[in-house]
Amino acid sequence: MIKSSRAKSIQQISLFVSMGLIFNQLPSMAYAHPNEAAAAPAASSKPKDQFAIPDWATPVAPWPAVNKNVTQSIDKILASPDVKRAMAYLKSDESQTLKQAVTLSEIPAPAMTEEAKARAYLDLIKQTGIADARIDKEGNVVAIRKGTGAGPTIVVDAHIDTVFPVGTDIKVKVKDGIYYGPGLTDDTFGLATMLSMARALNDAKVQTLGDIVFLASVGEEGLGNLRGVKSYFGENKNIDAALMIEAFPPGVGGIISTASNRYEVTYTGPGGHSYAAFGQVPSAIHAMGGAIAKINQIQPPKFPRTVYNVGIVKGGTSVNTISPDAVMQIDIRSDGAKELDQITKRVLDIVNQSVVDENKRWGTDSLKVSVKLIGARAGGTTPADSVVVQSFLGATRANQAKEVMLIGASTNAGVPISMGIPTIVIPPGGRFTGFHALSEAMDPKDAYKGAQIALTTILSLVGVKDVSTPLVGKQAGK
Ligand SMILES: [Zn+2]
Repeated sequence: MIKSSRAKSIQQISLFVSMGLIFNQLPSMAYAHPNEAAAAPAASSKPKDQFAIPDWATPVAPWPAVNKNVTQSIDKILASPDVKRAMAYLKSDESQTLKQAVTLSEIPAPAMTEEAKARAYLDLIKQTGIADARIDKEGNVVAIRKGTGAGPTIVVDAHIDTVFPVGTDIKVKVKDGIYYGPGLTDDTFGLATMLSMARALNDAKVQTLGDIVFLASVGEEGLGNLRGVKSYFGENKNIDAALMIEAFPPGVGGIISTASNRYEVTYTGPGGHSYAAFGQVPSAIHAMGGAIAKINQIQPPKFPRTVYNVGIVKGGTSVNTISPDAVMQIDIRSDGAKELDQITKRVLDIVNQSVVDENKRWGTDSLKVSVKLIGARAGGTTPADSVVVQSFLGATRANQAKEVMLIGASTNAGVPISMGIPTIVIPPGGRFTGFHALSEAMDPKDAYKGAQIALTTILSLVGVKDVSTPLVGKQAGK
């Protein structure tokens, strides 16, 4: 049984690790969300819908108009008999999809311990008829559905791992049509949606021009530090676009993935008596304090949002000892890759200079500093007019979905975004609440609609033989 303190700490992890979303607003792009006016008066009279778009999902860019060529291409795709069959299949496959999501969700898979769930998923993706499926050296399951060879290669990703340690009760419970299960929505339902899309494509014999790589990745959460996608995109340089499926609300796409660098900085010196050794030895704490004061003077850009924080300080021996040691942990984040590099460089310059200054102050060279990278998440922002955003918006609208919103989140998308690959985070279908909490829950009603939008987006990007040309180009030299 899980103690409530653990539940609380998991909720805190949720707040800090996954959902950097609240902080991703672009203040300069103020505009009204069309639902705001309608939603406000009704809120007090009705009980709050726990599956409503949560407060953290804040728009980060205005909704771009969908280009005519995108709309036309999507219309052609959706009118094709093969694609129609695939779309109907997704609807008829709804209960099987949910069942497989439950099966996979009940296999423990905290980051770094994904193997059993990966093997179970590998079996299921092979059953869809994709022969080219394997577990790569990092532990990702890579399944490739080949096109005719005349199109781009796109990755469709969902992550295998969850935040829940082995021993957590992850049995899925159903009450009044709502599915409760830690990890079911983030991101196991994404895995099940990939399985359903693969089945639909194979059942309807949809022939694409480009290749679709279904990537079930490891290490998205917390200390996994995106190791699965880092490894995959590091090894495979031929990827032209990426769709990352995460438990986002219907109609919500993610275009920002906040990048971060985390450091532990350790100062060491000889130390000494505060009276007897004064003037002869440098102080680790004084040097670190000087550095913190200077770091605090940095003015980071508001857009792309860039922040820093010295979150932990430790050190010293006693009140009357010139400190021989001091340690601080620094977190630096940005929605822009370049801005992250710039602020990181300034922080590290300040750290190095603080040692030089403290040694100079006392005419010594005995104070040293070491800097250790303790976390790094790649990231950046996909422009709102990018082809992947266009395809997702076009597919969402063509499938009669009403709400469309572009948000930011810290996800696997950071890796391809940082590499300049057109990337968007898309929802799998269904409505969710309580990510990373033991109360994680899903309302699966009409979840197939999310799969239909995802599949439409995929097909518009890779192109369908004799129906449409790929919206995303094969990148030169690949
Ligand atoms: Zn996730």
